[in-house]
Order: sequence, then structure tokens, then C-alpha cells
Amino acid sequence: MPEEPSDDRSRAAHPRAGLRLMHVHAHPDDESSKGAASTAKYVAEGVDVHVVTCTGGERGSILNPKMDRPEILANITEIRRQEMERARDILGVTQDWLGFVDSGWPEGDPKPPLPEGCFASVPVEEAAEPLVRLIRSFRPHVVTTYDERGGYPHPDHIMCHRVSVAAFEAAGDPARYPDAGEPWQPLKLYYHHSFNRPRMQALHDAMIEHGLESPWAERLAEWKPEPEWDARITTQVECADYFGVRDQALLAHATQIDPDGMWFAIPRELQEKVWPHEDFELVVSHVDSPTPESDLFAGVADPS
Ligand SMILES: [Zn+2]
Repeated sequence: MPEEPSDDRSRAAHPRAGLRLMHVHAHPDDESSKGAASTAKYVAEGVDVHVVTCTGGERGSILNPKMDRPEILANITEIRRQEMERARDILGVTQDWLGFVDSGWPEGDPKPPLPEGCFASVPVEEAAEPLVRLIRSFRPHVVTTYDERGGYPHPDHIMCHRVSVAAFEAAGDPARYPDAGEPWQPLKLYYHHSFNRPRMQALHDAMIEHGLESPWAERLAEWKPEPEWDARITTQVECADYFGVRDQALLAHATQIDPDGMWFAIPRELQEKVWPHEDFELVVSHVDSPTPESDLFAGVADPS
């Protein structure tokens, strides 16, 4: 945890000390692929950022061909823990595991049933309890999670959405989960909209314009425009200065991220120019915060 600023100089270096942000994610690596540049920016400004990782990512496939070796697969749980430790150091966040087991990506038609005991098979009421406890102990002003589609339809991402919304609502209510700590009501709840179509289209167009091969041609051809969905974005946080930190955090998840893959196919300079922000949707606000806005803490009073 960063120290409280004790004089004017540290106040200038950490202008937002005392503010707390909690990101709830499904797997180790999600904190680095969604909203990671704004995380790094808030950390640099003195905000305390805490990541909650719902599952251990035990069923994640190895997506980096250079890491696809039997000894890595045999120790995947421990290796993913170590990767997460590196990523959190790079991002400057603290982190807790919620302790649930990865549900895995269901493959086949029809899809197979969920593995027994996995995160997505736990009743929401029960799965929200440890998150309520963490909200009450960390006392975030702002919480982020995924939209109701999960951002992408992994069962753990959809479950992460449900559990986060339930815990956000329950944490401030003394009648709910009375044994899980002193009630604390976070002020704002956001959904990530990192992978929105307008962003992908803008980056695709810029690649073509520069005579480069776009990694998104196929995805865009299949992805029907959804203007109403895109209009749900309320908040764009400028964070291009931290795209480098985001990329380092992603690379720390070496079993999940191929350094020669699509994550790094678009030159960073182009991203900085074309889409220099990360996108969110303000879903609940207990403070006055007119949208559109450019700061997750807009309307939240300075705690000092
Ligand atoms: Zn995930």
C-alpha cells in the first residue's frame, strides 16, 4: 500500500492518494488485458488499486506456442500464480484470489456441461460472500467488472459479472452477509468495454492506411455493428502513456500471451494516436457524475 502523503511535495507526486479502486476479474491475465493502462495511470497518481481474481485459471489453455510444453502444462496452476505475481508488480497493484476453480472454455456442439464444482456452477449468493468480505475490508470508492455478456462469453466472465453486481449491492447493506465485515458502499460501478467494435474498426483502418496488415479483418467481417451497444460507453480514460506498462504486464502472463500474436500486432505509436484511452460504462453511481466523463473517480470527493 502506498504511504499517505505527509507534505505538499508528496501530495503533488500522488495527487489522488486516499482513493481506492477495485477491479474484479475472472482469471489471472484479465487484469492485464482489460483496463490495464488506466490501472497503471491511477497507480502512478497515488490511487490504491486492488485486483480480485475469481479463479486460478487452472483450465486456461496454453496460448503461447513457445510455452506449450508438457512440464508447463503439468504445473499450470503454480505457473499462473507466478505469472500473476509478476503482472501485479509491474502494474503496482495488490491482489487477492477469490479461490474458485476455473470453469474452462466449453468446446463442442452441443456444449458439454460445466465441470463439477467450478466457479460458474456455484450459486451467486454463495460466490458473492468472499467478494463482499473483500469490498468491506478494502473499501473501494469505485469497482469495475464485466458487462452482462461477460465481455466475451466465457462462463467465468459471465459469472464474474453476476457476482460483482451482487456484491456491489450487498456490501453496503448491514442486513446482508452480517458476518462478512463492516458494511461499505462503493460509490460507482463500471463495466469494461475494452474490446468495442469502434475501437477495433479505428485501429484496423489505421493499419490499412499505413500499408500494414490488420489482424482484425476477419473479426470485423463477422462482427455486426451494434450502435446501441457501443453507445453504452460513458467514460474514456486517457492512458496512452501507460500502454507500455500494460504490454509488460500482459507479457508477464507468458503461458497465455504470445509475444508474436495479435496483442502486439498493432504498433504502439499507432494505438497512442488512434485510440489513446480505455473505455468503460458507468452502471451505478451514488455520486453526481454527469456522463460522458473521462475519470472513473469523477464526482467522488477527495478523501483527504
Ligand atoms: Zn478470462
